[in-house]
This record gives sequence, structure tokens and C-alpha cells, in this order.
Amino acid sequence: MLRTPIDDIHQRAALPFPTSLPQFQRLFPDDAACAAYLEKIRWEDGFNCPWCGATGDPYRFAARPSVLRCRACKRDVRLTAGTVMARTRTPLSTWFWGAYLVSSMTPGMSAVQFQRQLGLTRYETAFQILHKLRAGMVRPDRDRIGGNPEDHVELDETWVGGATRGEGRGTHHKTLVVGAIEVRQRRPEGRGTAVPRRGGRYAGRLRLEVVPNRTAESLCGFVESAVAPGTMVITDDWASYGGLTQLGYDHLPVVEGSDPAVAEEYLPIVHLIFSNLKSWLRGCHHGVSPKHLQAYLNEFTFRFNRRFYPFNAFRSLLGIGGEVASPTYADLYSGEWEHPTTASGHG
Ligand SMILES: [Zn+2]
Repeated sequence: MLRTPIDDIHQRAALPFPTSLPQFQRLFPDDAACAAYLEKIRWEDGFNCPWCGATGDPYRFAARPSVLRCRACKRDVRLTAGTVMARTRTPLSTWFWGAYLVSSMTPGMSAVQFQRQLGLTRYETAFQILHKLRAGMVRPDRDRIGGNPEDHVELDETWVGGATRGEGRGTHHKTLVVGAIEVRQRRPEGRGTAVPRRGGRYAGRLRLEVVPNRTAESLCGFVESAVAPGTMVITDDWASYGGLTQLGYDHLPVVEGSDPAVAEEYLPIVHLIFSNLKSWLRGCHHGVSPKHLQAYLNEFTFRFNRRFYPFNAFRSLLGIGGEVASPTYADLYSGEWEHPTTASGHG
């Protein structure tokens, strides 16, 4: 696995990622600056015409910053092709600012807030941009977590949702969610501060899924789709996990019984994540219906898995560089890229 210090992201390609909104606005003051950024990402070593293969500086137009014209064949190349910005009339700078707002940790922004922040006259424009950017979060991460012999995966289920107003106490509308989190013994490279950490262990990548019940079929099915075989998986001693060894996992069931200290010892990080997930859902999305819960789990997972790499989140949301099957810079720099194996393309 390739691991490159995060500083490389900032220095290589001379594309610094801003850490505050004022800094962001200085970096991308206008559409021309955004277009230059897109050009730099696509052609690190200078323009190369996709039509005729010519190199050398293309023509640029002040009135149409997202279009370059090849000097050799005179054909136009659109910088926004293949991104969420393709074929929209909204200025590039609005898209960039929007993606910055959504990728920063600001949770659950409404279209009205978004409209105000971006200074848009039409609510519909804000709504559409927000939805297009959000679509970039719903795309599930494809590779399975785990697979590193030094690390293990904590796995557990939890009930999300609960008593709806007026229906009294109890377990109305609760939805079962199963989660798997990589636990690493070393601090991931990066600058993140909000690292869930217990006893020198660090959270790696996360997977969350709504499951219909606690049967072996549901739970083991989730593990197979989310965790690489051979990984050490820690669960409670619920019988449905009994088949994991046979499925090729190094299964360690722990007897929680009624002693919370046992869970704290063996499944601390997945419990911490469930607790963060629930306060996030409570705080900004009052009453998420079971039908939409998976979308919120995806958004939570998207932010969690990219928390050290806001640059990756920003680019993923805009759809920049996402159309190539080879590793993107983001993949390489984050250390998340794994060369194709049997696990690739799964899920
Ligand atoms: Zn050309």
C-alpha cells in the first residue's frame, strides 16, 4: 500500500488546500482562478489536447473561463466535462464555494442557509447545487476495509431512531444499523485533530449499513461486503456472528454479558462512532425516516473517512478526477489506494 505524507498533497502540483473560508476566497476569487485550478489538476505538466494530442498553451477566453481552445486543431475543450459542474450556468466560483461549505465539517446544511452563504438570488439554484454535491457523497466507497495484518476491525449493531412524538416511549420506528470500523495501532498520517482514540488505537475507515434484522444472513452478509477476508474481526458473542470463521475471517467474539467495561475494552471505537452518529442525527436531522437513513449513513461515512483529507472530499464532491479507473492523486496521497485484488469492485 502506498503511503505518502499529506504534505505532498499541498506541495506537489502546487495546489494548496485552504483551511478557512477567507483563505478559500483568496485562493478562488473568481471563475478564472477556479478554471486554472481545474486545468492544473487535469494537466499537471501542461495542456495536452484530447482531440489532436498537441501540447503548448491553449487559447483562453475571459468571458468563458471554463473553455480552452487548442491552438493546433482549434477545437474547444471543456474543463468541466465529467464533473458535476458540466452543463450548468452557475459560475465555477459558486460551485467551488459550495463544495467547500459542504466538505467542511458543517453538518446538515439546509438549502436556505446554503443560498444565503453563497449569496444566490434563487432558492432553486441553491437546492440544485446542494443536491448535485450531495450525490457525490452517496456514491459508496467500493473497497473493503481491513486486510492489514497489523490492524483489526470492530463490528457491532445498534438501534437508530426511536420514539416519535405523540406515540409514547418505546422502540417505534427504530432501525437496525451495523457498523464496521478499522482499528489501527498507529496514528494515520495527517493533521486531523478529532481522532477517535482509545488506548493508543486509532480509527481507520468506516462502513455503516441498515440491515433488516440480526440474523446470520444479514450480519455475515454485511461483513462479507464490507470487510476483507483474513481480517481479525471483533464482535460480541451474538450467535449470528458464529459463521465468520468459516467465511475466512479471524473472528474474536467477546462476552459482553452485563458488564459495560468489557465492551469498553474490546469494542470502544465502534461504540464511540455509534454515539457520535446518533448525536449528529439528533442534532441536525430531526427524525430521519428509516427510508432515508442509509443516505445519512453514507454522508456520515463520507465525512468520517475523509476527515484527514478535506481536499479529497472537496474534489470528490465536485466530481473532479473521479471518472478515471486508475488511482487518482487523492487515492494515492490518502494511502487508500489498493492495487486491484479480488476485493476490488466488490459491493
Ligand atoms: Zn487539438
